[in-house]
Amino acid sequence: MESELDLKPFPSSGKDQREKPLIIAGPCSAESEDQVVATARALKDYGIGVFRAGVWKPRTRPGDFQGIGEDALPWLQKAREETGMQMATEVATPRHVEQALAHKIDILWIGARTTANPFAVEEIAQALQGHDIPVMVKNPISPDLSLWIGAMERLSKRGIRNMAAIHRGFSCLSKSAYRNPPQWDIPLQLKKKVPDIVLLHDPSHIAGQRQLIFKTAKKAMALNMDGLMVEVHPQPKQALSDSNQQLTPEGFMGILHKLGLDVETSPTHTRAELESLRSRIDSLDEALLDIVAKRMRISQEIGNVKQQHHMGIFQRERWQKMISKRIARGRQRGISRELIETVFESIHQESLARQKAHRSEAKIHSTPNNRP
Ligand code: PEP
Ligand code: MN
Repeated sequence: MESELDLKPFPSSGKDQREKPLIIAGPCSAESEDQVVATARALKDYGIGVFRAGVWKPRTRPGDFQGIGEDALPWLQKAREETGMQMATEVATPRHVEQALAHKIDILWIGARTTANPFAVEEIAQALQGHDIPVMVKNPISPDLSLWIGAMERLSKRGIRNMAAIHRGFSCLSKSAYRNPPQWDIPLQLKKKVPDIVLLHDPSHIAGQRQLIFKTAKKAMALNMDGLMVEVHPQPKQALSDSNQQLTPEGFMGILHKLGLDVETSPTHTRAELESLRSRIDSLDEALLDIVAKRMRISQEIGNVKQQHHMGIFQRERWQKMISKRIARGRQRGISRELIETVFESIHQESLARQKAHRSEAKIHSTPNNRP
């Protein structure tokens, strides 16, 4: 049976242009404000536009990490404010929907365990009625295409038109290298039955281990899927959920690069961003020059005092104390020892040279022959 889903193009999918796959990335779970914001920043720097993080985690066993819950939603809001990325999270109950909407989450997804349950999907669909928010539907855990399409139909009946399907593989009893074997024929059949659906591929939950992600993502791209949703964590090994399958931002970019999918930020956006950063650097450099000039004037005054009191120009003890203090203070600010040594040695040399020059000038002026 053909499915008649009334679909609008999924936002950011570039589906009209087709040439650019939609890339969604972020940690399996939101664990802390720092982790969320730092991951979003790193991904944004690589040009990724949509961030994912699970707030409510449907874990298989009750002792597993269940997610932070509602308290994590403001972290996603903060990440959006800081990066301008769109935020996506999973909802499994009407209450989740209500809380995610209240926190202005941009995109929702329904997880594999929830898609498998028509009662739960129906309740979520009801809660979403009247809200114009994009929803992504993961395939159900079992290899049942009708259940997957049925979930999308339930949403469609409640007026959700911005929809995407996510292929995350299927549970299977036989032994496999994959955590959830892809069973490629099922997403391909979905595409046949619902040709307009945006079909994303989640290689993380299929692979279950970092090493297999490239291979499955490559195949999905070769099959013309419309994008990827990938789990990325700043310290995958310490992740509270799905630690074996999460990639570092750099590892993820390496994979996108090998897939020929490096996301480029638009040239105008890059130019504007560069210009604004450069103008901040320009004003800091101006301030730096003012400070160096001021410092030189003071060191000249010091030179006068040394001269009046017949002191040597170079005071080793003072220099050693000063440089070690500067190194320590600089290190506290994340500046390397080498940089501090180079900068302060140059400044100090210049100060000494000036004091010396001033002294010999004064000598010339004070010799009797030069007196008027
Ligand atoms: C997830 O995306 O973190 C998740 C729980 O996925 P799935 O529903 O595919 O297991
Ligand atoms: Mn996960």
